[in-house]
Amino acid sequence: MTQVFKFGGASIKDAAAIRHLGRLLAHFPERPLVVVISAMGKTTNALEALLAAARGDDRDDYRARLESLRGDHLATVEALFGSTAGPVTQRVEALVSELDRRHRAHAERERPFHYDQTVCFGELLSTTIVGAWLDEVGMATEWLDARELVVTDDDHQSASVDWKTTAERVRGLDLADGRLRVTQGFIGATPEGASTTLGREGSDYTAAILAHCLEAEVVTVWKDVPGLFNADPRRFDNAVQFDRISFSEAIELAWHGATVIHPKTLAPLQQKAIPLTVRSFLTLEAPGSTIAGDALHDGDVPAFMLCEEQTLLEIRPRDFAFMDEARQHDILGRLVTAGLHAGLIDAGAMRLSLCLDSHPARLEPLVTSLCADYSVARLDGLTLLTVRHPDDDLLRALGEGREVLAERRNATTAQYLFHTRECPATWHIPE
Ligand code: ASP
Ligand code: MG
Repeated sequence: MTQVFKFGGASIKDAAAIRHLGRLLAHFPERPLVVVISAMGKTTNALEALLAAARGDDRDDYRARLESLRGDHLATVEALFGSTAGPVTQRVEALVSELDRRHRAHAERERPFHYDQTVCFGELLSTTIVGAWLDEVGMATEWLDARELVVTDDDHQSASVDWKTTAERVRGLDLADGRLRVTQGFIGATPEGASTTLGREGSDYTAAILAHCLEAEVVTVWKDVPGLFNADPRRFDNAVQFDRISFSEAIELAWHGATVIHPKTLAPLQQKAIPLTVRSFLTLEAPGSTIAGDALHDGDVPAFMLCEEQTLLEIRPRDFAFMDEARQHDILGRLVTAGLHAGLIDAGAMRLSLCLDSHPARLEPLVTSLCADYSVARLDGLTLLTVRHPDDDLLRALGEGREVLAERRNATTAQYLFHTRECPATWHIPE
């Protein structure tokens, strides 16, 4: 049965990390195995900065950034291959020249198109180097261009997958020859062949797309954390790891702000009942956490999500009018236009309260537009805490000593909005 592995930027950030990846993969001789890889380290951010420099007409800055990207990748090649670096160096040089050429050829096009033609090179470079390294250490490897497999529409920077054509192409692959397949996350192409990207952090999604089309047995996402936790271990000192949770619970956690798995990733896997395991590439012995259709553990353990830098808007119609459906529709429509998600929505007879990310570029135009038609009260500097499967004692303990500015509770989920200044730097889950 086919397996799909996904490795993010941190797992291939330099030569030592790539060597480690080679040793890790040697523990998995079973084939077919498709390995989906992100750009090295923070390369995607570097490519975004390069694009910004070029579009801001700072040619010198563009040149310097391109040179540093080239230098970083070549240094990795040199550190890995030493005296036999020649052929890989040439391929990296060719990709960097192609990046520069395409980038300049499309400079007059709209930004999202230009972005995709430029930023896709992060993954093309990383997979070229990693694929060559796996060959070097004796693994028979085939490099696949994800742009020939993942077919998308032309909504550049957040392209949608054409599932039918993608499935035809992916199923057309013959994976039976025992070779490992290495391909890029995050990128695809239109039917006409223009490169597209699936949205930042989209490599997990690529792994899910390929697994769905191949009807894979399992997807493993290798990370620098040991698995999925019931709270962010960096913020909660007694977070516990899940062994197994269901797809629907994982989607709830992701929706409410857990960041380990990109929410889009889960639907294609859930549809084919393909489990997803999150494991640490640092500790191979650790079992990780699995998201699967049959999970039994939902609800045994409460889970906690924190969203910080939140703003509460209390929106009231002028003239003592009702906050009726027409007004709610109008206000929520403006959220869509602003590209903002409300983590908490609470409606009263003459009020609609929304808790939103304090994302200045999106929030300020929204507030301006709302103020033109409504009376708007605003509170900044807030933290939204969402708790799945809480009990009353737990919620009482969590709220203690803190003013609750807004709240919402149903059978499975409780949400509280607090002043961030009243919240601890490190939380402790009450026992
Ligand atoms: N390289 C892309 C990014 O940094 C995709 C990914 O890593 O998932 O967003
Ligand atoms: Mg990443």
